[in-house]
Amino acid sequence: MGGIWLRPESSDEVAEAVGDARRGERALEVRGGGTVLSRLGDAARPAPTEDADVLSVEALSGVVEHPAADLTVTVAAGTPIDELAAAVGEAGQESPIEPQLAGQDPLGSTVGGRLGTALASPRQLAAGRVRDWVLRVRYVTGEGRAAHAGGATVKDVTGYDLCRLLTGSWGTLAVLTEVTLKLRPIPPTRAWHRTTVPRSQWRAALHDPSAIIVDSEGTSVLLEGHPDDVAEQASSAQLAPSEPPTLPGGARAAVDPARTDDLVAELDALGCTWAAEPAIGLVHLDGDDAALAGARAAAERHGGRLLRLDPDPQTPTFGADPGPEPFAARLQHAFDPDAVLAPWRWSS
Ligand SMILES: Cc1cc2nc3c(=O)[nH]c(=O)nc-3n(C[C@H](O)[C@H](O)[C@H](O)COP(=O)(O)OP(=O)(O)OC[C@H]3O[C@@H](n4cnc5c(N)ncnc54)[C@H](O)[C@@H]3O)c2cc1C
Repeated sequence: MGGIWLRPESSDEVAEAVGDARRGERALEVRGGGTVLSRLGDAARPAPTEDADVLSVEALSGVVEHPAADLTVTVAAGTPIDELAAAVGEAGQESPIEPQLAGQDPLGSTVGGRLGTALASPRQLAAGRVRDWVLRVRYVTGEGRAAHAGGATVKDVTGYDLCRLLTGSWGTLAVLTEVTLKLRPIPPTRAWHRTTVPRSQWRAALHDPSAIIVDSEGTSVLLEGHPDDVAEQASSAQLAPSEPPTLPGGARAAVDPARTDDLVAELDALGCTWAAEPAIGLVHLDGDDAALAGARAAAERHGGRLLRLDPDPQTPTFGADPGPEPFAARLQHAFDPDAVLAPWRWSS
């Protein structure tokens, strides 16, 4: 029998679907909008196949609660990111895990997918990582057990912070069913700027830039805040107003921020186009197969990793499998003892 698409409509139905898969010895690919999954190589998305089904969380959608005065929102995990932005935007609020480069975040991506991948927006320089905005998650483990971690307010939590563990787990530990996020007021001004002057000459004039993105021709800077403050910073750093940068979307390399410049120094010779967030240690890349293979080798030499997000079915997404790491293996076993949730993920 070929694999099927499962579309549970509640957390109970998710638990039932995972329990059924476990008993039937079938694997599950958890899927939100599929905007990232559909870009990965075949090895990374085998479902639906003979022995693996797709568990789509699309039907778990909508705002559950938005107590605006508390600057928090609770949404079902399949809620599209743009729907979240519209809902909290009505109250003049935003979640910095929303996309910020117009037209570059694929339509249809979901809150659960954003947490699943932890692929942050360029504003993480000021806003922090995706995991920093997660207050509580409700989830179903690979054992088919419903649970929750964290709390709806910042102070009502004790014990291990499983929200952070599940953020970036790529659908391998649990199915997220509901997410509570911290919010903040939308800044009155948000403006991109550009300069070709090396950043050492103007960086000290900016006290809190939201993004600094360097490419081979110059640097884009996002300033947010009070209009006078933004204008003052732009003027003292001699930045010119500009459009948002276009980020290469074929791959992302992550290294220690102190190694970003060393990695970038190798990329032109490899034939890659790149845009780097030096303070984050993140480099967005494009290039042909040979160029991206060279970039992956360079990233690994610098102690980092390269994630490929291109449609070549033969391309390994995560690079060489680092092999079984005892603690990670035990953790995986605790959440998903029978390897129901995308057991192929890290070797694909
Ligand atoms: C080219 C490109 C550009 C991007 N640009 C930006 C950007 O500018 N700003 C930005 O913020 N983000 C950006 N992203 C990130 C991306 O949009 C998010 O990671 C997105 O939210 C993925 O959502 P999805 O629902 O489509 O995930 P899917 O493709 O469905 O799934 C992605 C992963 O998450 C897991 N997953 C999905 N839902 C759940 C769930 N409910 N529970 C557990 N695991 C789950 C899946 O198993 C899979 O491993 C970009 C991505 C790409 C490919």
